[in-house]
Amino acid sequence: MSRTIFEKGAEGRSGSFIPANDCPIEDLGFEHPREGAIGLPRIGEQDLIRHYVELAAKNYHIDKGMYPLGSCTMKYNPVINEEVAKLAGFGGLHPLQSEDDTQGALELMYELESDLCEICGMSAFSLQPVAGAHGELTGMMIARDWFRRRGEDRKTVLVPDSAHGTNPASVVICGFTPKTIASNEAGLIDPEVLAREAGDDTAVLMLTLPNTLGLFEKDIEKIVKIVHDAGALVYMDGANMNALLGIVRPGSIGIDIMHLNLHKTFATPHGGGGPGSGPVGVREHLAGLLPVPRVVKKDGRFSLEETDEESIGRVHPWFGNFNVLVKAYAYIKALGGEGLREVSENAIINANYLMKKVARDYDIKYPGRCMHEFVASGRNLKQFGVKTLDVAKRLLDYGLHAPTVYFPLIVEEALMIEPVETEKKETLDHFAEVMAKIAKEAAENPDILHEAPVTTPVRRLNEAAAARCPELSWSGLECVPMEDE
Ligand SMILES: *Cc1c(COP(=O)(O)O)cnc(C)c1O
Repeated sequence: MSRTIFEKGAEGRSGSFIPANDCPIEDLGFEHPREGAIGLPRIGEQDLIRHYVELAAKNYHIDKGMYPLGSCTMKYNPVINEEVAKLAGFGGLHPLQSEDDTQGALELMYELESDLCEICGMSAFSLQPVAGAHGELTGMMIARDWFRRRGEDRKTVLVPDSAHGTNPASVVICGFTPKTIASNEAGLIDPEVLAREAGDDTAVLMLTLPNTLGLFEKDIEKIVKIVHDAGALVYMDGANMNALLGIVRPGSIGIDIMHLNLHKTFATPHGGGGPGSGPVGVREHLAGLLPVPRVVKKDGRFSLEETDEESIGRVHPWFGNFNVLVKAYAYIKALGGEGLREVSENAIINANYLMKKVARDYDIKYPGRCMHEFVASGRNLKQFGVKTLDVAKRLLDYGLHAPTVYFPLIVEEALMIEPVETEKKETLDHFAEVMAKIAKEAAENPDILHEAPVTTPVRRLNEAAAARCPELSWSGLECVPMEDE
């Protein structure tokens, strides 16, 4: 068991040389509220570096191997984007600097917004929301105000059962009532079912496109018409727009409101809580409702304006996560229109290639053509007493990250696999081979799978306890005991 950095340190050690103070000590006229040392680890620089290198080596990350987490789009993030985001003119900005000082940053936001409009066929985007789910909430607030201003009291938001889990949550937080639309046997929305549900009380259809089964709604035009005929709006969760770049422009098919996940589709390292960016785009009729301030260009000069009285207001301090915007901008400009289309084409080709290979050993409930991801099922291994969780844990023993498991809920023992466009054929082949090997182990020696992982720094954890009751022995935090389940 490796020790914490606190245990590795000892009194008197230090990794820095701060010269003795040679300035007069000023009395600032107040007592410092801190009493005594704050208990930082005392450690030399070499041990400090070794400590973090050791930790990094234990970790699994995108620069170590394939990361097939469905829906999360864990693709390679070009390092040049980091360099660009670090440029002093971007990285060193203060949000209170004047508009004259920040013309370049404002221009970048202005151009990024117009690129996103071009890519998505929308009229305007707000770059303020800082996550996909935050974009969803912002979009729902826009819908709420749209109906409020028209004097319409619509309460229901239709959400297909193939939607991302954050969708119904955003609906509830915004004060609407979600109503589930069951998908048909092809994993898609049935226009007839939708037509029965859509009515005077429907405010929005909130659909994830492609849906969480990795499928594109082939009846999207009919679907949009049904919703519009009912006087409602269509919201598209475009977090996985990496399947549609240069192929489908949501605005052109009648989507009224959408969000993007810049940290997925446009390559920002993410996971572990951020930073993210979930811009919201709308068509013309809703543009006035977008959050303020908006970046405006007049006579070649950029400014921030808060004038639109219809606006739902601010949804985040300052301008969102600006460094993510810089990375998305760099990514879009580097690839251009053709390059972005190739991103999506390769994402789709990779997912379909891998699906065919994985289908030899695992059930595929919706075996048609998928988009950027597919959902396999470990249902066929239940006869050996093996669960999807066991498969996921065994993958770690073979040096691979597990896919998303047990989601979407409409697939039993789900394994949601997104290989992303940046992985080469050999990597996909290797993943499929390991999956095949695990299926064979399940039949021949299921106990190995129940014990997995055996090669990782820690064995199988109680994941709920690890989150709710972390062992932070140095912190003095009290553990909140788990309730019996
Ligand atoms: C990731 C994802 C979200 C949530 O995005 P966050 O940035 O994690 O809030 C929403 N919808 C879909 C389809 C997603 O894949």
